[in-house]
Amino acid sequence: MITSKKAIELENEHGAHNYHPLPVVLSKGEGVYVWDPEGNKYYDFLSAYSAVNQGHSHPKITKALTDQAQTLSLTSRAFYNNVLGEYEKYVTEYFGFDKVLPMNTGAEAVETAIKICRKWAYEKKGVHEQEAQIIVLENNFHGRTTTVISFSNDPDARKNFGPYTPGFIKIPYNDIEALRKALKQPNVAGVLAEPIQGEAGVVVPDDDYIRQMADLCKKNNVLFMADEIQTGIARTGSLLAVCGNCSCQGHCERQATYTKPDILILGKALSGGAYPVSAVLADNHIMEVIKPGQHGSTYGGNPLACKVAIAALDVVKDEKLAQNARKLGQLFRNEMQNLVDESDLFNKVRGRGLLNAVIINDSPESETAWKFCVALKNNGLLAKPTHGNIIRFAPPLVITEDQLMECVEIIRKTHSDFKK
Ligand SMILES: *Cc1c(COP(=O)(O)O)cnc(C)c1O
Repeated sequence: MITSKKAIELENEHGAHNYHPLPVVLSKGEGVYVWDPEGNKYYDFLSAYSAVNQGHSHPKITKALTDQAQTLSLTSRAFYNNVLGEYEKYVTEYFGFDKVLPMNTGAEAVETAIKICRKWAYEKKGVHEQEAQIIVLENNFHGRTTTVISFSNDPDARKNFGPYTPGFIKIPYNDIEALRKALKQPNVAGVLAEPIQGEAGVVVPDDDYIRQMADLCKKNNVLFMADEIQTGIARTGSLLAVCGNCSCQGHCERQATYTKPDILILGKALSGGAYPVSAVLADNHIMEVIKPGQHGSTYGGNPLACKVAIAALDVVKDEKLAQNARKLGQLFRNEMQNLVDESDLFNKVRGRGLLNAVIINDSPESETAWKFCVALKNNGLLAKPTHGNIIRFAPPLVITEDQLMECVEIIRKTHSDFKK
C-alpha cells in the first residue's frame, strides 16, 4: 500500500486544488473509525459532512451495494427497472410525500427543487414567465453549481464564476420580519432554507423560526423548500430537522406532527456514504408540473442507488439512529459546555442532535480552528473547521456512549495541551 506521504504528493501533483484537506490520508473505515495507510486509527467526527450517518462500510448497506452491483447497476430511465418503483414507494412512505424525483448529488437535488418551484409558480400560481423569485437566506450553503453559487455570499464560492443566475432574493437568516417583508415582493415562488445552517457553522435558528417560515409560505401561496441534505436523516436527533421538538421521539413516519415542507431535499446520508444518492420529495399537486423530457439524469434512480438507499434508510430506523443522536448529542453538548466554562479558548458550543460546533475565541480569519483540528488529528480524532474559528463535530450516529466519552477525553486533552 502507498504511504500517506506518497498519496498526498500524487493528489497535489495530479488533482485540481479545489480542496484544502487536513493532512491525513484515509485508507479504511468501519463504523465510527477510519485508518490511515500506516495503521493509525481515528474517530471520524466529520462523517463526510454527514453522509456517513450510518457509520463507515455498514454491512447491510455494503451487502445491498455488492448484491445489486452483481445483478444490474444502470439502465438509464429510457427503460423501467425492477427496483426504482420499490424504492419510490419506500422513500415516499418513509418521509410522507406522494412523489419522489431521484437524482445523485445534493447540488443536483437543489437545482431540481428550484426548477420544480419555478415551474409550479408559472403553471399553478400564474406568475409571469421569467419573473419568478426565490427567497434564500444569507450564509446559505446549497452546493456548487453555477445557479446555486449565484445566491451564495461566500466570496470563494462566487468570485469570478459569474454572470450569476438571476431570480433570487437574499434575506438574513433567523429573521422572521425580514421574511415577512420579502414575501410582499411580487412574483415570489418559494423559500429555500436549511433548517440549521451546517456549513455556516451549525447555526441553529430560534425554536419557532422554521414553523413560522412554513406558515408564512402557506399564507402567501409560496413553496417552502427545506434543504435537509446535511440536517436530515437522523443527524439532528429527529428524522428531519423540520421535526423540531415534536413528540415523534425522532422518528415521525407520518407528516402529522412536524412542519411539512412543500419540497424536501435529501442527499448525503440517503445512501450512508456508499454511493451518491439524492432526492426531491413533494406531493402530487406540485410534482405533477414535471412531465416527460422536462428534467432528468442518466444515473438518477438507478437500481444500485435505489437498493443502497433502501438499506441506508432501513439502518436508520432499525438502529434507532435519531434517538441515539438525540441522547448522545445532549451528552456531548453538556460535556462541551463544561469545557467552555473552564476555557479561555472555547467560547461556545451549539447544535442539535449530533450536529454540533464549538466556537473558538478568535476571529473567523484566524487559523486557530485549523491548528486545533491538526492537534485533534494527532490525538486520534478527525474534525474540520467550517471557519477560522468554528469546528464542527459530527460523528457517525452509530457511535456509543463509551466511544463518545472517549472522544470527549481526546478533545479535553487536546484543549489542555493546545497553544495558539
Ligand atoms: C452538502 C450539501 C449540499 C450539496 O451536496 P453535494 O452532494 O456536495 O452536491 C447542499 N446543501 C446542503 C445543506 C449541504 O450540506
